[in-house]
Amino acid sequence: MFYLDPMYFVFLAPALLLMLYAQWRVRATVGKYGQIPNRLGLTGAQVARAILDRNGLFDIPVEVTPGELTDHYDPLRRVVRLSEPVYYGRSVAALGIAAHETGHAIQHQQGYVPLQLRTAIVPVVNLGTNLGWIMILAGILVGITGLAWLGVALFASGTLFALLTLPVEFDASRRALAALTTMGIVDRTELDQNREVLNAAALTYVAGLVAAVLNLLYWISVVSGMQRRSD
Ligand SMILES: [Zn+2]
Repeated sequence: MFYLDPMYFVFLAPALLLMLYAQWRVRATVGKYGQIPNRLGLTGAQVARAILDRNGLFDIPVEVTPGELTDHYDPLRRVVRLSEPVYYGRSVAALGIAAHETGHAIQHQQGYVPLQLRTAIVPVVNLGTNLGWIMILAGILVGITGLAWLGVALFASGTLFALLTLPVEFDASRRALAALTTMGIVDRTELDQNREVLNAAALTYVAGLVAAVLNLLYWISVVSGMQRRSD
C-alpha cells in the first residue's frame, strides 16, 4: 500500500535531516548569544519599540508572549509579540530577534509583495492541506486520475507558501540588521553575531521549503504512476 511506502521516508529524509540541523543551529546560536549581554543594555521590547517608532508605526504594540522562540508578528491584529527571553532580555540575540519581527510589521505597512501574496493564498493553503490529501486518496481509490491531480494541485499551494516564505523571512532579517546598524544599536561584533542567529533561523525556512518540494514530488510520482497503470 502506498501509505506504508518506505520510499516516502527515503524521499523526505534529506529534508528531515536539514530541518534537524537547522533547528540545532538555531538552538545553539540563540543559546550562545542569548547569554551575552548587549553593549547598550537594551531589552528586545525597547529595541522593537524604537524601530517601529522610527518607521512611524506608533500604533503597533509590542507584547510579551509565553514560551521560547515564539516571537512573531501577527498581521491580523497588527501586533509584534516577543517571547519572554526576548521581550525582557538584554542579550545580543534579543536585539536581532526583536528587530526581525519589526521587519515583518514594516513589510506589512509597505505592502511588500511576497508577504501580500503569501497572505492572499492562506485560504487556498488551508483548503489544500485538508482537502488535497482526501482528493488524492479518493482519486487513487476510485481510480479517477483527474481528481487525484486536482488534489496534487491544491496540495502544491502549500509548496508555494513555503517558497514565498523565503523572501519574506530573508527580507525581514535584512531590514533588521540594517535598522540595528543605522540606529547605532549594535557594534560590528554584535552585528555579526545577530547575522549568525538570523541566518540559522532562515535555514529552518529553507528546510521547510525542501520538505514541501519533496513532499509534492512524491505525490506527483504516486499519481503519475497511477495514471501510467490506468493508461
Ligand atoms: Zn520572520
